Amino acid sequence: MRIEIKLGDIIRLRKKHPCGSFEWKVVRLGADIGIKCLKCQRQVLLERNTFERRFKAFVPPASPQPQRSGNR
Ligand SMILES: [Zn+2]
Repeated sequence: MRIEIKLGDIIRLRKKHPCGSFEWKVVRLGADIGIKCLKCQRQVLLERNTFERRFKAFVPPASPQPQRSGNR
């Protein structure tokens, strides 16, 4: 599946970063996708395929009530 991402999008990955965060900001688009961890600011380059496999959801920038689902 093809995911439409834009620079500056906040996205959530399936796997947790070692720092404990799931959320990343898109900082580079191209053959590789550059994302930056929102918590520890670490930057990672992923091939688009890899990115799409790890991608879980978009995080809306201005969500007044962050949804908390039961699974942790
Ligand atoms: Zn991190």
